[in-house]
Amino acid sequence: MSNAITIALSKGRIFRETLPLLAAAGIVPQEDPETSRKLILDTNQPDVKLVIIRATDVPTYVQYGAADLGVAGKDVLLEHGGEGLYEMVDLNIARCRLMTAGLVNAQPHRGRLRVATKFVNVTRRFFAERGQQVEVIKLYGSMELGPIVGLSDLIVDVVDTGNTLKANGLKPMDHIADITSRLVVNKAALKMKHERIQNMVEKMRQAVQK
Ligand code: AMP
Repeated sequence: MSNAITIALSKGRIFRETLPLLAAAGIVPQEDPETSRKLILDTNQPDVKLVIIRATDVPTYVQYGAADLGVAGKDVLLEHGGEGLYEMVDLNIARCRLMTAGLVNAQPHRGRLRVATKFVNVTRRFFAERGQQVEVIKLYGSMELGPIVGLSDLIVDVVDTGNTLKANGLKPMDHIADITSRLVVNKAALKMKHERIQNMVEKMRQAVQK
């Protein structure tokens, strides 16, 4: 574990909405990940670096201490399981809902339902808790297509406005969880670099819009 502090972020909405919170902790990236090809970005603080990775990889980097802190959606954290990390602050950004969805004009179904999703762990848990046997089909994107082409009866995906579902003849059905992004911290790093990390976490917590 190096003495620098590394923060794992994904590009796009999470990066943009985390910027003001980092600024409140006195951290300003020196480059824009949307235009830079670099995976490690310097900040105005010589001992604070950002690593720019896929959203679903953020908990893994933080779990193994490859990053000390990270920002990840609750959907991604639920799917990962949260091993090796603490969820420190609800940043109240990238708000959406994790839902099941199906065709608007679905025929009544007999037998075991098939559910297409990239959230296979969350989906298995959700249906198991309801005592419903389902077959979970792992996809990496465009889940909405599943019911249209007969790959699956349902999907589990994050929904914001619901426009994507609607545009594909689907409707939201069961609410699984409310989602926002969270600041997560590696458990060992919190012990070893306690003062610096705790200070950053507190400043970001204070900057969160209620
Ligand atoms: P919607 O506004 O429901 O049409 O959402 C548009 C697309 O963006 C959907 O396919 C969602 O999977 C995705 N999406 C919406 N909000 C989020 C979020 N907070 N995090 C990740 N993906 C999202």
